Amino acid sequence: MPAEIPAEIDAQRRRITTELSQLGFTLPGTISVRTVTCGRATCRCATDPDQRHGPYIQWSRTVGGRKTNKLLTPGQLETYQPWIDNGRRLRDLAHQLETLSLEAMRSAEGWNR
Ligand SMILES: [Zn+2]
Repeated sequence: MPAEIPAEIDAQRRRITTELSQLGFTLPGTISVRTVTCGRATCRCATDPDQRHGPYIQWSRTVGGRKTNKLLTPGQLETYQPWIDNGRRLRDLAHQLETLSLEAMRSAEGWNR
């Protein structure tokens, strides 16, 4: 490591990498819980918002550039919601680490920007 990196920046790096090392499984995507109308004009869901179908638990993610959905059971939601939350935290921490690394590089090299 270059000696010119301030201790405070390196301390932040350690905080981020420690949290990264403690993450469990991480999943991409988001989960939404929604009720839907089926589209049949004669169905009770067409006129009464309280009669919409569901709720359905939908896990959405992008695979190969295309959005993909999968329905989850309440049990699956309980199991995998923390993995989804971890995935969001992983991306957040990765972004923080990258930003911090740019700061460390600028500081070490004496660059203004
Ligand atoms: Zn319906």
